[in-house]
Amino acid sequence: LAPKALFQERAKRGAELSVLDRIRLTVRFRPDLPNVQNGAKNYPPPEMDDKTVTVHRRDGAILTTRFEFDKVLPPSSTQEDVYSAAAADIVDGVMDGYNGAVLAYGQTGAGKTHTLFSASPECIGLVPRAASQLFCQAAVDENFTYQVSLSFIQVYMESIQDLLRPEKSKLAIRDTGKGKGGSQGVYVDNMEEVEVNSMDECISLLQLGDRNRSVAFTDLNAHSSRSHAVVIFTVRKWNRLETQQKTAVARNFTVGKLYLVDLAGSERLKRSGSQGLRANEARSINLSLTVLGKCINARANPNSSHIPFRDSKLTRILQDCLSENSRTSLICCAYPGGEHGDETLSTLQFGERAMEVKLAASQNIGQDYRPKAPMLSPRIQAQPQEPAA
Ligand code: ADP
Ligand code: MG
Repeated sequence: LAPKALFQERAKRGAELSVLDRIRLTVRFRPDLPNVQNGAKNYPPPEMDDKTVTVHRRDGAILTTRFEFDKVLPPSSTQEDVYSAAAADIVDGVMDGYNGAVLAYGQTGAGKTHTLFSASPECIGLVPRAASQLFCQAAVDENFTYQVSLSFIQVYMESIQDLLRPEKSKLAIRDTGKGKGGSQGVYVDNMEEVEVNSMDECISLLQLGDRNRSVAFTDLNAHSSRSHAVVIFTVRKWNRLETQQKTAVARNFTVGKLYLVDLAGSERLKRSGSQGLRANEARSINLSLTVLGKCINARANPNSSHIPFRDSKLTRILQDCLSENSRTSLICCAYPGGEHGDETLSTLQFGERAMEVKLAASQNIGQDYRPKAPMLSPRIQAQPQEPAA
């Protein structure tokens, strides 16, 4: 899409969508694989419409569970459908200084990496689409100057690795201290945060990270379905006119962070039979996803006073996305076929629970998210546009 068209789309969305006051839930069913025995086991294929999924399980009698979500995308859905349901307005918010997050959850093979990272021209994934929206909108916004930066990390066996600088393999997480609204955030200390000024720069960094994900860490056997990958875009924005007039810079500055997260496969990993590394991997994935579930349960329960973010590296990194000060969207990826019925059911139950998590993001104005953020000079400036015809 041309930048101007994107800008108009955004204006349209702005009129339609309200602020997210809880985690938004999109379910995406992948296309079936050839030769699967649909309904051969205990599950006939689920029924679905725009917002509901009904799962039937044969267990002597037939047990029926009906779920309602914000959006259910059938196997025929496109990457564009996913983007507009799960991400577009959240990316708008990040440009305005709100934190945002889109997380893909589901069993291995269900389409998480395809949904987020696909680079094939006919089905570009959510991460490059988000980047494109950031750059296109920044390039036509004449009132503000933007700086966009990119980080790319993974969590593997409870260790945080920098996919843009693989030699950094044991990064630490720190608190930002209380912000103005009393909100506390976290950041990954010493993580590469590369300023990006074009789509090309952005794509080559994503490719670098992807190569490192599969090459630099192969000695550790860090197969992608066994690690959690996190792309973080940070968007800093200055009011252009007032900056020129040298009025108080702080007041005219916002910073929004966008987390795009490809979680490790959620299937129950069998412990019996696997030894050594595989068993440790299984334990750490089980640990992090179990703690993720616990954090979601705690956040969903208005009476809980403790949220166990610190019990795993994954949840500690995602602390911002799971706290109130974020607009967070979860995509549950699933197979439509009956042979994966147990996993599909557990994925949908996870999603249903996540919808109970309340959010109340506020704009991050005048203060960067970490104490000594480099005050880089703003770079992306719009050129004056021809007035719209
Ligand atoms: P996951 O990351 O959840 O383990 P992948 O995204 O790697 O799963 O998907 C497994 C395979 O299925 C990949 O080859 C991927 O391209 C394909 N695939 C998944 N979802 C879709 C889809 N919606 N359309 C076409 N191919 C898909
Ligand atoms: Mg994957």
